[in-house]
Amino acid sequence: MRRILGLIFCLFLFWGISNASDSKFVVVIDAGHGGKDGGAVRGKYKEKEINLGVALALGQLIEKNYKDVKVVYTRKTDVFIALDKRTEIANKAKANLFISIHTNSTAAKTTNAAGADTYILGLARSEENLEVAKRENSVILLEDDYTTKYEGFDPRSPESYIIFEFMTNTFMEQSLQLANFIQNDFKTVAKRPDRGVRQAGFLVLRKTSMPSILIELGFINNKNEGRFLSTKSGQQTMASAIYSGFKKYKREFDKKQGKFVVADKEDDFSFDTKDTATVEDINTEQPVSNITQVPQKTDLAGKIEYRVQFLISTKKLPENSSSFKGLSPVTFYKDEAGYKYTYGSTTSLKEIIDIQHRVSAKFKDAFIVKFKDGERIK
Ligand SMILES: [Zn+2]
Repeated sequence: MRRILGLIFCLFLFWGISNASDSKFVVVIDAGHGGKDGGAVRGKYKEKEINLGVALALGQLIEKNYKDVKVVYTRKTDVFIALDKRTEIANKAKANLFISIHTNSTAAKTTNAAGADTYILGLARSEENLEVAKRENSVILLEDDYTTKYEGFDPRSPESYIIFEFMTNTFMEQSLQLANFIQNDFKTVAKRPDRGVRQAGFLVLRKTSMPSILIELGFINNKNEGRFLSTKSGQQTMASAIYSGFKKYKREFDKKQGKFVVADKEDDFSFDTKDTATVEDINTEQPVSNITQVPQKTDLAGKIEYRVQFLISTKKLPENSSSFKGLSPVTFYKDEAGYKYTYGSTTSLKEIIDIQHRVSAKFKDAFIVKFKDGERIK
């Protein structure tokens, strides 16, 4: 009898495992705006392009590292998609997660505001959050018969937003969990200023039948952030942070399903070149030739070595990469944020300040880092 029970138990276990493996976890990645809807635009920086770059890079990371996850994109090219269509894609795919990717802006021409925030659906508790939702929802004005489609919702009128107060958000807890994971990784992985997890009434999230979030990557009208987000390396950095948050959520999800959670393997953080060809700064300037050669390396054992860090990339760059803007030779060290490129090597503080001064003409944010016996120290 015991044996038979054991056999039945085994059968159940097997059934459970095989069943779990053929129903994939589905994540819908929604690159905000597209086509005639550029989203926030400041000069050559376009929200629709930033959003798509990050969405594609995020999708790549998930597809590469998870065999049991299916990625569905609401768009993979520069096309216009109505808001309700995006929701419909997610619901039809019976998605487990919906991640909408956007870029923030303010009404002013430029701003000092900076950093990423992650939204879940709800009633905005501040004017600032309401403004973000109003701006993002206003894209429905570009759609035909939006009044019928969105039941008379006027994205510009604060009164319209009352519907979000009386709404029951079934997936609030899980949405919040994902938002917290991702927001935390914007801080630790991407090293971006943290604007926290927020709530506002976004139409695109309203009718999704799964945990869903909307990310504002940063401010397009903040000069530095607009530039950072418009580079491939910036987009890959943001995608890596979202991926890292997704991974934590997926692990918790699997645990709850009683799935065996496999021990952490080394993630593949490379990006295919077809979508992300260069990691070049779009501020293409001529390579520098006036930077003098790095001082000869002396014996550094036990001594403090100074270098100038000028670039972070999520993938390893070729030695002659144009991203270095003519700096050569460069070295790098690696940590969870990616490959950190440095120039110069000296034990003299005076000398490194001089080098930093010259590097910062090409890389404004270049700063001095200290090493001891090849290890980065604080
Ligand atoms: Zn947007």
